[in-house]
Amino acid sequence: MAYKIIASQCTSCSACEAECPNVAISEKNGTFVINPKKCTECIGHFDIPQCVAVCPVDNTCVIDNSFPRYQAPGGAA
Ligand code: SF4
Ligand code: SF4
Repeated sequence: MAYKIIASQCTSCSACEAECPNVAISEKNGTFVINPKKCTECIGHFDIPQCVAVCPVDNTCVIDNSFPRYQAPGGAA
């Protein structure tokens, strides 16, 4: 259902925050976090998750396997 940010790798550049179509990313205690309840993996908005696309640090925005993968309404994904 969601991407997450590896806090130890996040440089707090804030590039991802403005790009998220669901306003799921916010700053918290000096690092950036994704609200898994708002993240739709960018499905229906973009082919590539925008946080992944803009993050300058590879493998910092990654799938959070503790949530089931997002299912678009109607089942298309
Ligand atoms: S995958 Fe898309 S919806 Fe989820 S946090 Fe990243 S930019 Fe936002
Ligand atoms: S773009 Fe990457 S490094 Fe920058 S705030 Fe977002 S997660 Fe952190």
